[in-house]
Amino acid sequence: MVKLSKRLETIALQVPPGSRLADIGSDHALLPVYLVQKGRVPYAVAGELNPGPYDAARKQVKEASLGERIVVRQADGLRAVLEGEVDAVSIAGMGGALIVHILEEGRSKLDGVHTLVLQPNIGEDQVRRWLVQNGWQLAAEQLLEEDGKFYEVLTAVRNDDQAGGADLYAARELGCGIEISEALLYRLGPYLVEQPNEAFFAKWRSELAKLEGIAADMTRSDAESARLRREMLLQDIAATKEVLVCLQKERQ
Ligand code: SAM
Repeated sequence: MVKLSKRLETIALQVPPGSRLADIGSDHALLPVYLVQKGRVPYAVAGELNPGPYDAARKQVKEASLGERIVVRQADGLRAVLEGEVDAVSIAGMGGALIVHILEEGRSKLDGVHTLVLQPNIGEDQVRRWLVQNGWQLAAEQLLEEDGKFYEVLTAVRNDDQAGGADLYAARELGCGIEISEALLYRLGPYLVEQPNEAFFAKWRSELAKLEGIAADMTRSDAESARLRREMLLQDIAATKEVLVCLQKERQ
């Protein structure tokens, strides 16, 4: 049985048992091999664009003797999948913009799909926005830390009532008593702010430190545009900090 990292294991647990899975950008095909070995999914497609990872995926599937259950295809994004072939799609370990691009380009292949499990390395808010705009309801969010890095896993299910998806992000008062904006809900995650864990606070402490560094660098320019951008960034930092302090207080 192949062994998964904590990150891939978190993703694996979001794939509904019994579904046929397409793992796009599968690299070594660890996720589909693990899920088929476990008996959680009966069939999987491992899609890879690049020759090196494609060869690695083929080798992994061959070594696991799973050639009849896992099809490895070299293709760009969802082109690896035939129409109606899978019920669930996972896309992990890439930037949010690339994940959105793959979903957008592969729209027609998503027709029979009921679940998306997405793990953007950055740009999570772009993925959340795409889901809302394209009839997918965010159903669960996880945030974990592994080897000093932070990962968010977003699970979405089909949502025919599109407004329902947008409601998740409506500005609202948090239990700790302050108002959180729509923009911050997209950035921090509507479920993650409801049940923030230690990794959530550690991630945002680290992100805020980076943003403060960027704001400090901006003082080097005298340009009016740089001053305005810095002001907006500082407002952003302050609003995020206010939410984090409030959430932290609520936990104590
Ligand atoms: N999904 C695996 C994981 O989470 O461990 C591998 C992540 S790896 C960092 C990203 C993989 O996506 C690479 O193997 C890369 O070749 C592949 N990739 C990048 N763009 C792609 C695309 N448009 N279609 C399919 N695969 C792609």
